[in-house]
Formats: sequence, C-alpha cells, structure tokens
Amino acid sequence: MTLAHGRAYRAIPGPSVIPDRVLNAMHQAAPNIYEGPLIALTERVVHGLKRVARTEGSVAMYIANGHGAWEAALANTLAPGDRVLVLASGRFAIGWGEMATCLGASVETLDAGNRAPIAPEAVADRLRADLSHPTPFRAILVVQTDTATSVRNDIDAIGQALRSTGHPALFMVDCIASLGSEPFEMDRWGVDVMVAGCQKGLMTPPGLGFVFYTDRAATRRRALTRVSSYWDWQPRTDPDAYYRYFCGTAPTHHLFGLETALIMLLDEEGLEAAWARHTRLASAVWAAVEVWGSEGNLALNIPVKAARSTAVTGICTTAGMAEALRHWCETEAGLTLGIGLGLDGADAPAPGGLFRVGHMGHLNPPMILGALATIEAGLKSLAIPHGPAALDAAAAALTARAGATIPQAAE
Ligand SMILES: *Cc1c(COP(=O)(O)O)cnc(C)c1O
Repeated sequence: MTLAHGRAYRAIPGPSVIPDRVLNAMHQAAPNIYEGPLIALTERVVHGLKRVARTEGSVAMYIANGHGAWEAALANTLAPGDRVLVLASGRFAIGWGEMATCLGASVETLDAGNRAPIAPEAVADRLRADLSHPTPFRAILVVQTDTATSVRNDIDAIGQALRSTGHPALFMVDCIASLGSEPFEMDRWGVDVMVAGCQKGLMTPPGLGFVFYTDRAATRRRALTRVSSYWDWQPRTDPDAYYRYFCGTAPTHHLFGLETALIMLLDEEGLEAAWARHTRLASAVWAAVEVWGSEGNLALNIPVKAARSTAVTGICTTAGMAEALRHWCETEAGLTLGIGLGLDGADAPAPGGLFRVGHMGHLNPPMILGALATIEAGLKSLAIPHGPAALDAAAAALTARAGATIPQAAE
C-alpha cells in the first residue's frame, strides 16, 4: 500500500509547478506564424519579460533551457583567450565557467564555498589587483541564487564593489532560479547581462531561455569579430522579420503559456507581492527545519538568514539520511523533493546527506505546509530523530506579519 495517489507534488527547484491556466493557454491549435495575433503576443511577452527583469535594456529569447541561455550570453560577449572571473558559491557559477572554458576563455575562480555568499569586498580586492594585468578580466560570472546550495548572493553589493574599482569587466548574472521569485533590479544594480529560463519562477514548461543585456554589453558584442549566428542576440532583439525572433520557427505554445504566466505574475499578483509571498513561504520552511534540527541532525545549509534564497532551501542531514527521506516521500506520499547536486570541498554535505525543497512560483500555504507535514511524516516513519512542533513553527511563520505581533484572543 502507498498513500501516493491524488495529485503528485514536485517540490523541486525547477521545473516548478505549472498553473492550470498556463497549461490551458497552451491547449490550442497551431497559430499562423507569418501574421496575425502571434506577432503582437510576442511583443507583449518581450515587454513583460523586461518588466520582470526591471530593465530598459534588450531581451533575446531562445528555444533552450538555462544551459542554452548560458551559452548564448557567453557567445555574445567573449572571444577565445578572454579572461573571465567566476564567483563560485556552489555548483552553478562553476558550470557556467566550465562552459566559458569550452568556448576558449581563460577562467579563474573566486570560491566562497558551499554555505556562504560571495563577499563583495573579496570581489573588489580581486578586481583591484587585476587592473594592472595586461588583459584584465572581460567578464565576471555570478549566480544570484545557487540552486545547489540555496545561497543567495547580494548582486547589488557585488555590483557596487565592481564599480568601486573602476574595473571594465562585464557584470553577468544568472537569475535562472530566482527571476520572478526573488528581488532583482537589473538596471538599478548595474547588471550588464542577465540569463534566465522559463521553468522556475516563470511557471512555464522548460524550453525557453532568455538573455537580457544593456547597451554596454551590446557594444562588446559589436566589437567581436565572430558570433555564431544561432546564438547572436542582435537579430533576436531587433528582428526585421518575425522568424528572426527565434532564428526559425517560434516556440508558439510556449509563448501562449508564458504570456499567461506573465499576466498572473505582473498584472494580477504584482511582482513585489510575489517576492513578499516567496519570503513568507520560505520562512515557514526555515522555521520547520530549525525546529527539526533542535533535536536531530537536520540543518539549513545556509546558516545566515540574509544569505538564504527564498526560492529553494537546501537541508543538510547525515550521510544517506536525505536520500532515505526523499525516497520515502516519493514512493509513500507522492511528494518529490530535490536531490543533492554534486558539491565539492571541505564544507560539502555528506554523500546522500542533502535534500532540497523548491518553493518557487505557483505556490501557496496548503502546498508548502503539506510538503513540510509530509516530510515530518517521513521523519517519523523512518524513526529519524527530530525536534517537536515544527509544523506549529511553520504555521506561525506564515501568519506573522512583519512588525506586528500575532493578535491575542480578546478576554
Ligand atoms: C536550473 C538552473 C540552471 C540550469 O538550467 P537548465 O534549464 O537546467 O539548463 C542554471 N543556473 C541556475 C542557477 C539554475 O537554477
């Protein structure tokens, strides 16, 4: 017997839960790709994406996942031999840097480990020292939220550190896990290039990657002697015919779905309200884990609250325990939790000792409390020691209003 019937719940950090309205918007006959409503719809999607990124710059869309967006961003900014600084805080910036190496860049790494954010002062020191190099770094690569560790880097502060040095490197940020869920201000924070995908905070099936860029980055692109034509962002942002948006056939049904997701996010909920909702839901997860860990071997991978992502939470356990718990939740309860991704270094979790709860996108208290209660059932079933009343703490975190105390019953 298993209890895993009814609607399965994938509490993983992407692909995230797809709203039924997004799925329904995709359920229609193939549209005319030469003329008609699809053209205006695509323009609305471009406009909406820029609103989510908070930029007046350009956005190029690709039929690709996040890795495709990574490659697109690099293909438009780097030439073989260019030096690149990767700011590592887990797995994903390192992966982006490996891709740059494959394209012929010379990559150096500043590593903050697996449990802490990048220190902006360390970035400033490294860049200041680099200014006397005959060929200074062309770009720095950093992720806002590293989905493997669940750390959130302070992109605003890193941007200020970069500018304080006067270093000319392009500031390139991966917001694949965070866009639409966590505060991000491309123009205000001085980001030159930002990459994202549609399947996390943007609630759409995997398949669209985005590269946002400023005029400064466009100037760099024009100075390159060669850019592969498929990745070239220029025709995609300034198309002289509709097919140029996607260098071929448009991803018609993804556009239908994405338009609906953007309406839900921007016009119905509002971006700031979505950010605040994610903060509140994440605080419920943190509260539960802290209580479980008070009498057991469970802990938040990112101890410093201000450095935690509000889209995904990594939870450390002893070796193998996370995998046992994940297995129980999957097979007994129909709840899919995120696996631990390959992390290296002295502070890396034990093998099979980290799991992740994705809490990005289309999510509400019944879903998050259901996931936490199911994890608690797994802990009990597997006789894993844990502190009591974690769900009380999660419920209290959900209802607590900033600056307000929980109302007391009248006498
Ligand atoms: C998911 C993710 C990626 C990779 O995206 P894919 O769509 O799986 O290629 C890259 N960076 C971050 C921060 C991510 O969360």
